[in-house]
Amino acid sequence: TRRTLIAGNWKMNMRSASARSLAKGIVDAVGKSPAVEVVLCPPAAYLAAVADVTAGTPVEVGAQNLYAADDGAFTGELNASMLTDVGCRFVILGHSERRQLMGETDADVSKKLHAALAGNLVPIVCVGETLQQRETNETEAVVESQIRGSLEGLDEARAAGIVIAYEPVWAIGTGKVATKEQAEAVHAFIRDLLGKMFTPDVAAQIRIQYGGSVKPSNASELLAQPNIDGALVGGASLKVEDFAGIINS
Ligand code: 13P
Repeated sequence: TRRTLIAGNWKMNMRSASARSLAKGIVDAVGKSPAVEVVLCPPAAYLAAVADVTAGTPVEVGAQNLYAADDGAFTGELNASMLTDVGCRFVILGHSERRQLMGETDADVSKKLHAALAGNLVPIVCVGETLQQRETNETEAVVESQIRGSLEGLDEARAAGIVIAYEPVWAIGTGKVATKEQAEAVHAFIRDLLGKMFTPDVAAQIRIQYGGSVKPSNASELLAQPNIDGALVGGASLKVEDFAGIINS
């Protein structure tokens, strides 16, 4: 059985005071023994502050990126060891914004995945098609090649511990959520693919989150789908009320 994983991707938002108060609000809303696993992914500048607020609570912290190298001359970058040092347990990798704006490739994501696992971080690997790719019936081919490329070299023993986030690009920040049928179809396809890449037993353990315009009003029907094991939430993770509504849905 896969524990539902609700993660908030704050993207490039908040300041130290608002980051702390949002984290505190979520901690209070979540309580001591939440039914789901909850992760906050603030900008790197606020990881330590958020980890300070969530320490000793069930709420966990994740980063939005890492650089796949040990300490050295990599100006502006942060490695897995630094992220765990400031309290991270998770790291989002290959988000579509990084793929589009920073030119991240599947090969980059694969390197980051191995660095995350070596550094004891749980990677949340993001994949998803653009609107044009969906309209030309390329969704499955695109998602398959992103998953095969991003998970390159991942061995079966470690695969069960990773998280995949299916985030159709056309649903991110647009208010256009995938229908529960559209999302479930891709999630089932991904699980089947993972079964072929690893084993069906391993695939059954991998959590697959949906992301893209998740709100309190649509979360419960998405999360009720058999292959949807959580949500990666952008905009609605920036307000206590909205994120708590998703957590409690
Ligand atoms: P929105 O929830 O704002 O659509 O963002 C989704 C997302 O990109 C989460 O990583």
